[in-house]
Amino acid sequence: MPMKSQIKDLKEILNSPKKIVITTHKGADGDAIGSSLAIYHLLKELGHQAHVITPDDYAYFLKWLPGTKNVIAYDDNKEKAEEITKESDLIFMMDLNQANRLSNYANIVTSSNSKKILIDHHEDPDLNIADIIFSDKKSSSTAELVFEIIEKIGEKGLLNKNIAECLYVGIMTDTGSFKYPSTTSRTHDIISALIQLGAENAKIHDLIYDNTSSARIALLGYCLNKKLLLYPENNAAIISLNAKELKEFNFQKGDTEGFVNYCLSIKNIKFAAFITEKEGIVKLSLRSKGNIKVNEIAKKYFNGGGHINAAGGISKVSVNETIKELENIINNLK
Ligand code: 5GP
Ligand code: MN
Repeated sequence: MPMKSQIKDLKEILNSPKKIVITTHKGADGDAIGSSLAIYHLLKELGHQAHVITPDDYAYFLKWLPGTKNVIAYDDNKEKAEEITKESDLIFMMDLNQANRLSNYANIVTSSNSKKILIDHHEDPDLNIADIIFSDKKSSSTAELVFEIIEKIGEKGLLNKNIAECLYVGIMTDTGSFKYPSTTSRTHDIISALIQLGAENAKIHDLIYDNTSSARIALLGYCLNKKLLLYPENNAAIISLNAKELKEFNFQKGDTEGFVNYCLSIKNIKFAAFITEKEGIVKLSLRSKGNIKVNEIAKKYFNGGGHINAAGGISKVSVNETIKELENIINNLK
């Protein structure tokens, strides 16, 4: 829950017109982009100049969100992003707990003199990266936290359909469509409020989940049929895809989103890993059920982090060697 002093500080800062940058983590997901665009629309309503700058491009199924056309990807437009950041008074950092999650854009942000505000729901935020910190690891999503903050600063009256749809996407995607344990009655109360504000819930589910290419479904079929490694004695499963396989299935950013969850839908599987080789980098998505802390595994072995049951990181070795490394890790899980 947002604390009183942060709310007071935020209200004071927003009292006069500001030039504001809103940014979020690399590979922005529904919560990252939904919470960023929600804050963007609110700040515009409040009379500020605002820009959303993401470190890189994001999944196609999020590109219908209101305001998405104005988002600048740093990797694709470095000069413009740098200029806007340099001229800003204020930077909102959304859905991240460490500056390195901003990837290539991190230095531009950390070296800027702008005041910085962090809004996030990950464990252990780096308290040095911002002047005002809203951190609530109990919150289902950064989007849910944004709703609470808007309410606390007394601007609920500015909520509109655009903001409601952005927040709905953030909450829906980070709760696995309201099924993860982080989903509370308060989450449902907020979702109810967002629908009352005009969020078209059935349309949103359709645009996010039922709007993919047939190549993606073929890739999913390939993963489940040919690439699923099961370790029943360890309650674990791994799926991996190398660069060649992704190319064969005409991979588009976002295509493998959610694949890791299929492992966890198998009875007794409590640990799941999904490994991909993208742009020369071997990336891991880790998921678990119960008290297997995948964020600690990601941090210890893969220079990453995340939540207890959903985390990610990078491997320094090949896909096959990463599988071997994971098999060792799995053997040591109790
Ligand atoms: P995903 O597996 O969907 O990419 O990410 C799951 C969770 O892990 C998200 O909360 C995300 O913020 C976090 N995460 C993913 N990759 C990384 C990483 O490389 N570093 C850190 N610190 N967190 C990550
Ligand atoms: Mn999130």
